[in-house]
Amino acid sequence: MDGVVRESAGVTLNWKRPADKAGVREVQSLRQMRHCQSCGALLSAPSAVSPGACPDCGSSDFKIMRFLAPAGFAVDARYEVHDDPSDTGTSMLVDPWVSARTLAWRALPDPNVGRLRTGSDGLVFWFNPGPHGHGFEVCLHCGRAEAEHQADGTGSLAGHRPLRGGPRAADERTCTGAPEINPYAVARHLRLGHEIRTDVCEIQLYDCASREVALTVALAIREAAARRLGVDADEMGFAAPPAIHPAGQRNWTAAVFDRASGGAGFSATIARDPIGILNEARDLLDCSKLGRCGDPDAVFACPRCVLSVDSQHAVEGTDRRAAHSLLTAIGRSLDLPKRFRLFGPATEYESAPLPQALSDRLGDDASNTLVVFMSGPPAEWELETWQMAPVLERWGARGRGVQIAVDASALTATDAVTRRNVVLWAQRARVDIVARNEVDNDAWLAGVVSTRGLTAWASSSASAKAVGIGWGSVSDAPVVRGATALAAPRERLDVSALLSAGGSEAIFEIADELDGPAAGFGARLRALLRARSTELAQVFSAPCLEIRYSDKYLFNPLSIRLLTEVVAAFSDYDTNVKVQTLAAKTGGGARTGPWLHRDWADLVTRTAVMEQSLVEVVPKVQVSQVQSAPHRRRLEFRTPRGSGTIFFDQGMGSWRVTDEHHDHASSISEQVTSLKRPFSVLNGLDGTFLAVRLD
Ligand SMILES: [Zn+2]
Ligand SMILES: [Zn+2]
Ligand SMILES: [Zn+2]
Repeated sequence: MDGVVRESAGVTLNWKRPADKAGVREVQSLRQMRHCQSCGALLSAPSAVSPGACPDCGSSDFKIMRFLAPAGFAVDARYEVHDDPSDTGTSMLVDPWVSARTLAWRALPDPNVGRLRTGSDGLVFWFNPGPHGHGFEVCLHCGRAEAEHQADGTGSLAGHRPLRGGPRAADERTCTGAPEINPYAVARHLRLGHEIRTDVCEIQLYDCASREVALTVALAIREAAARRLGVDADEMGFAAPPAIHPAGQRNWTAAVFDRASGGAGFSATIARDPIGILNEARDLLDCSKLGRCGDPDAVFACPRCVLSVDSQHAVEGTDRRAAHSLLTAIGRSLDLPKRFRLFGPATEYESAPLPQALSDRLGDDASNTLVVFMSGPPAEWELETWQMAPVLERWGARGRGVQIAVDASALTATDAVTRRNVVLWAQRARVDIVARNEVDNDAWLAGVVSTRGLTAWASSSASAKAVGIGWGSVSDAPVVRGATALAAPRERLDVSALLSAGGSEAIFEIADELDGPAAGFGARLRALLRARSTELAQVFSAPCLEIRYSDKYLFNPLSIRLLTEVVAAFSDYDTNVKVQTLAAKTGGGARTGPWLHRDWADLVTRTAVMEQSLVEVVPKVQVSQVQSAPHRRRLEFRTPRGSGTIFFDQGMGSWRVTDEHHDHASSISEQVTSLKRPFSVLNGLDGTFLAVRLD
């Protein structure tokens, strides 16, 4: 494909012609990609939002690329436009930006050597920087695009003719988007970009001292994986994104991804056996081996070893010699260190992601059964992000013996919403809830019972046991497995006792009772609580003296409006209100869009809108942003007649709106005003529930 042809053509328009600055914001294809230079996170957002710090690491050191995601290139009809996503029509080949987009890193056998992560929803971003590396100048009225020649040159679209007979100005010749006619119609220095979601695997070696070494390791592990799979290496792509180093040094990961959008499972092979793949990669980089180029000092990666056609352009960005000596050096420390041999000398490193390893064991034999040990406070269990939950659900649905072993007294003592969530999930998944045995080791994560006995998986890291995204997946200790003595059968818990509420506690099922105008939402909640419990009627007969609301999921304008309604209903002028929420959304980007129920890309704006909205109903309000908040949403209250806590299942997230617009990029006061407008909310079909516990 000839880049020059595209340089003088344009892009297909799939937006309304913007007449002013606000109109430019509406062009959804105008986007920005931010690449965190500290941790490697990739954040994709509409071009108009003013982004905050990196949600994963808090850094503000970004490479930022403004780009246009064209629906198609309007090129000369003689040239075919094919659908290879990596071909953005560039004459200059540029490596894509890549991120596995998960915080679930797991340690290699020796956590001092490195770690890896694999994401099935990773992000790969290709871009065309233009023939001169300064991007393109694009007319948003007709789609005409010209290559930029300089970083600060004047534009060349003054007085241009519209592409394909597009909109004409009064002179009937010039495009209405010409800068002298419409100052907002031409976007400058835009890259043409394309992003896909796919399987991405990243291996981070802490001793990797340059981007060239990381890129070479990526090429070699890609080749090793391709040989195992019997596929062409260029079914997968490679990259060397920056990564956080434990000692603060510059560091890069070796990233391999599937080129097919949605993923083909190729790069996941690496994550199942990283040690084997690293050893094979080392041998591939050994140019002195038989059949290779024979030059033991070759600096660049050579075609005989690891390069296929798609990587020829990257030769000068490689450092074969240093990569080979790095892999040779770490090869000696890929054994499991003694301190992690939790099952004695025969302890083995679990090389696969734990949920996958356990699922494989269940698949080995129809009589194998599984028990998963649940540690930590039950209110902090995040079943919805827990990678093990879908595995338990899958095997439970087939009627296989799957259990979760819990600390019975901790689960009994936790709040009613948590108990109910755990029980309802277990019943749906057909998972038995059993009590941990005295002999069950604290370090255990899971066990599989087979005819040969019990194999247990364990980690010496406390955070590996937290039920959520990082379960069995931490950087500071490996997951290991070993054979161990079969424990006595564990006792099943009485599920109906866990479901019932008693004493100072009550559960409220909520279907459509709170549906209706957003105004009055909180008043309807208060009325419902008072109608269903004489005790609560008494407690809530006066406004609260104090309210503390904690919710780590306040990311969209709808939730802010409903929270404001709730606070207003339970307060008066003198109520002290404290709201605690997350300063940054962790794990996964914002779900953005011009709707009331979509997230702010930038949480600084979110917090400002929230503070302003709340202060208009209660003067004494304090919003604090924290790095981590309790998983369970809760509202603690104190009135002259009593105090207690409301535990929410989904908080304000259970109520929906249809077709309600919101401009997340307009000014704070515009957003606050717009949020006060009338609209209706509707509970989800499954309803929700909350529990109230009086002190
Ligand atoms: Zn970051
Ligand atoms: Zn034009
Ligand atoms: Zn060679």
